[in-house]
Amino acid sequence: MDVDKHTLRHTRRPNVFGIGDASRLPTSKTAAAIRKQAPLLVENLLAVVEAHAPTAAYHGYTSCPVVTGYDSLVLEEFDCDKTPQETLPFNQAKERTSMLLLKQLGLPALYWHGMLTGRV
Ligand SMILES: Cc1cc2nc3c(=O)[nH]c(=O)nc-3n(C[C@H](O)[C@H](O)[C@H](O)COP(=O)(O)OP(=O)(O)OC[C@H]3O[C@@H](n4cnc5c(N)ncnc54)[C@H](O)[C@@H]3O)c2cc1C
Repeated sequence: MDVDKHTLRHTRRPNVFGIGDASRLPTSKTAAAIRKQAPLLVENLLAVVEAHAPTAAYHGYTSCPVVTGYDSLVLEEFDCDKTPQETLPFNQAKERTSMLLLKQLGLPALYWHGMLTGRV
């Protein structure tokens, strides 16, 4: 599916929007990316339904938890230009056990109780 990388609207079929792995957006395909894409898609879809131009813009945010050892992980967050988009208040380029625990314990909870219920 070819969607505009900012508005997430199909480039040839204006009544179609797309997110996720099938959207062919120029960023790494992750659930973390979808978490940012989904609210933007809804905002733009509602704008179009109300005959307004879609103005909410996605900038390619994605996140890859890279396991670097038995007890360490680097939580990468970046956009489609590979520019870091770190959200935590410390250097995320550093390998950390805390980030491994976040992936093992925190992110599944975020997925099941946050994303799937629409809270985050
Ligand atoms: C091994 C692995 C590890 C990952 N780890 C992470 C991670 O740590 N963090 C992260 O953020 N992301 C991670 N990802 C990426 C994340 O899982 C995907 O980006 C995300 O699941 C994509 O969601 P989606 O809804 O776009 O597509 P999918 O989850 O692929 O959903 C598409 C659905 O459509 C169904 N389908 C396909 N064709 C048809 C059809 N013709 N009719 C009806 N249904 C159909 C499929 O069965 C599937 O259920 C990982 C992916 C993999 C493979």
